Amino acid sequence: MPAIRKTIDETEILRQIEICGRIRAIKNSDSQAGLALVDTYGCQQNEADSEKIRGYLAEMGYGFTQDEFAADIIVVNTCAVREHAEMRVLGNVGALNHTKKAKPGQIICVCGCMVQQEHMAEKIRRSYPIVDLVFGPHELWRFPELLLRVIEKHGRVFATEKDDGAVAENIPLRRDGKVKAWLSIMYGCNNFCTYCIVPYVRGRERSREAADILKECRALAADGCKEIMLLGQNVNSYGKNLDDPITFAQLLSQVEEIDGIERIRFMTSHPKDLSPDLIRVMKESSKICRHLHLPLQSGSTEILRRMNRRYTKEQYLELALRIREEIPDIALTTDIIVGFPGETERDIEDTLDVIRQVEYDNAFTFIYSKRSGTPAADYPEQVSESFIQEQFDRVLKLVQDTARKRVARYEGQVMEALIEEVNESSEGLVTGRLSNNTIVHLPGDASLVGSIVPVRLSSCKGFYYLGEKI
Ligand code: SAM
Ligand code: SF4
Repeated sequence: MPAIRKTIDETEILRQIEICGRIRAIKNSDSQAGLALVDTYGCQQNEADSEKIRGYLAEMGYGFTQDEFAADIIVVNTCAVREHAEMRVLGNVGALNHTKKAKPGQIICVCGCMVQQEHMAEKIRRSYPIVDLVFGPHELWRFPELLLRVIEKHGRVFATEKDDGAVAENIPLRRDGKVKAWLSIMYGCNNFCTYCIVPYVRGRERSREAADILKECRALAADGCKEIMLLGQNVNSYGKNLDDPITFAQLLSQVEEIDGIERIRFMTSHPKDLSPDLIRVMKESSKICRHLHLPLQSGSTEILRRMNRRYTKEQYLELALRIREEIPDIALTTDIIVGFPGETERDIEDTLDVIRQVEYDNAFTFIYSKRSGTPAADYPEQVSESFIQEQFDRVLKLVQDTARKRVARYEGQVMEALIEEVNESSEGLVTGRLSNNTIVHLPGDASLVGSIVPVRLSSCKGFYYLGEKI
């Protein structure tokens, strides 16, 4: 499928920012305190989108709160990847009945992937009258305009038209914390794994211009940011649709040159597109972290074929083991789905075999969730719930046993950790992260936050360390 790129004109974003000023004036004339709550579900892409929503809200003069009863506006940014996430969202939106009763002027917005599905937007229209504004991921750039319509007309607004999506630059952003930043380098997905709703709700794959990404990285570095996480559904196909094509490996090399940025991470890498160039750039880099998330989904070649993943068990293993050989200190993590239609015990054995051979440092295991509109939703269901639970437990146990061993292998050694924050639950401790993504807690105070320090990894507590600064 050909990739597309459509850019929202810069003047459109300036117009949205101007509308933020008008909303601020309306709020001031109502002498409204103006507090906002943004509740985010799902992946880092959604977290990054919520930073834009907060950016716009800050332009409108809103402060931020975690208290639903204090908030004048609540924005729920939703996920559609699994049914469980959707059920949680609907439950929590339903519970906002109480807050709106207590605070009748409260504005409730629901946005993100879940509402980009027609049946979900319709469900909210019919069954959740407390919701004032609904908008999909493609409409985020014009959130101010949509909100103004709600405020001026006091009516409900729904903006979830089908769209392939576009790239919008210069939306104001409000990030939590300065040490680390998420940065989307591309949007959408063209891969159409047969179980996955993402391509239908986030549109076709489109890359940001490298110049815009680098400009944002430089601004973050100037603001004291030390670590950047580059985000995309498949970063390995970054840049293919740009007028001046550039590979992801080339982009990484350019980010590496920015002074002040000490660490670079990225997510997610589809195994079918991971290039030898990327392995070389990672190997030679002093800033790219020693962690690669390489989603497996299944170890069975037949299930992978029916998932449309476009690699075999052998190809995946060859790639993972080659990466381990080239970069021995790398931590590999993965995603695994259990209970795909038609999956048998033999398929699970293949998955367990890959886990044993690759020895992941961590793995996210998911029970298959049927997503309407995806091809797999129409596959004959041949997997009973009890079978799924049993196999899920087997996979989880092996993953955890393997990961515990892998994480503990550095006990007693000294490694560098970026100190991310003061530990909120234990006084006198700060929390840092190793290049390989393992967490370490150590004695320290706020003055350490943002620095990279050598830490002795004194004792491993399963999936994290207790340590001390050397
Ligand atoms: N683009 C990324 C990739 O290809 O790995 C990840 C996108 S998805 C938001 C994150 C993970 O959710 C996937 O890797 C997959 O394991 C899981 N997932 C996606 N659809 C699912 C479904 N229908 N049921 C269960 N898990 C699912
Ligand atoms: Fe979904 Fe596959 Fe795209 Fe990842 S690569 S977002 S799993 S369709």
